[in-house]
Amino acid sequence: MIEQAILEITAELSQAKNIVIVPHKGPDGDAIGSTLGLMHFLKNKGHKVDVIAPNDYPRFLKWLPGNDDVIIYEKDKSNADKLINEADLVFALDFNHLNRVGDMQDILTASQAVFIMIDHHREPSDFANYTYSDAEMSSTCEMVYHFINKLRAVEKITPEIATCLYSGIMTDTGSFRFSATSAETHRVIAKLIDKGAVNHEIHNNIFDTFNENRLQLLGTALQNLRVKPEYKTAYISLTQEELDKHNFQKGDTEGFVNYGLSIEGVVFAVIFIENKQEEIIKISFRSKGNFNVNEFARAHFEGGGHNNAAGGKSQLSMENTIVKFNSILTEYEELKK
Ligand code: 5GP
Ligand code: MN
Repeated sequence: MIEQAILEITAELSQAKNIVIVPHKGPDGDAIGSTLGLMHFLKNKGHKVDVIAPNDYPRFLKWLPGNDDVIIYEKDKSNADKLINEADLVFALDFNHLNRVGDMQDILTASQAVFIMIDHHREPSDFANYTYSDAEMSSTCEMVYHFINKLRAVEKITPEIATCLYSGIMTDTGSFRFSATSAETHRVIAKLIDKGAVNHEIHNNIFDTFNENRLQLLGTALQNLRVKPEYKTAYISLTQEELDKHNFQKGDTEGFVNYGLSIEGVVFAVIFIENKQEEIIKISFRSKGNFNVNEFARAHFEGGGHNNAAGGKSQLSMENTIVKFNSILTEYEELKK
């Protein structure tokens, strides 16, 4: 983000404003961590700030400081529409296209507010007045830290802000193991610990608060794992019936897709999850190394994301989705080498 933009945003923020902060639909740890971290920062500067998430998110994120203030658009549409109409400024965090906000797209498109986008996904679209986009970054939370730093306000980072930003960096980097985790990411994390993020509590709150249903669902997912060594690929499927049997709650399947990548030689892992209500199969793609799942998801499954982590969907049945997937795989020479 250029110096001129920072000067202009500093001027925008020099008087109290009505601000709305929006993450993408299906918000993950980075989306909620970044929106709440920025919310605390802006509230502490004297602004009126509302976080409006398009839809609900997993229980393992609901302990984050400020969680109770989050407005869920699906559940509180008229209040949310009013807040968006009254907003002077809208921060769009952790997404690159306005179509990533689901049903909020129309009202945001119509809004006269000044838009500021902070995001680390590839190929950002040009919907914001100010765009801070960097696809090399580990996470939007890391970028919010850098944004605060550019505003020369690191000393204003409270333990709440530090906790939110730490959480999103941790979840988006797979606990600091994915390739986007840089030395700079670790320096930011060190700063956040200095500012009051308690790392062992955060890890515990996010990873160690599940119930036995979720572990048994993982058991079913692993039973359903299929490995195609000739394509260095592994995939998992979960039907709605299997989810129901284990009393599925939002967030329960988070991270399941990564198990495929723990098999030696596998560089491409996929999970297909049936959603009867939306009549789709939601798909997550993960890879190691050069295999680009963003392109794969865009080309074949109406999705996108990052080089090594992307999502998409299919309107076919589970069976036909998997048939389609297997037939597409044969086109990928790079997986065969
Ligand atoms: P997940 O598989 O965890 O849902 O998503 C992995 C990454 O891909 C995230 O960065 C997410 O924002 C992105 N992503 C997931 N689904 C979609 C989609 O349908 N379209 C696009 N463009 N990105 C997606
Ligand atoms: Mn992210």
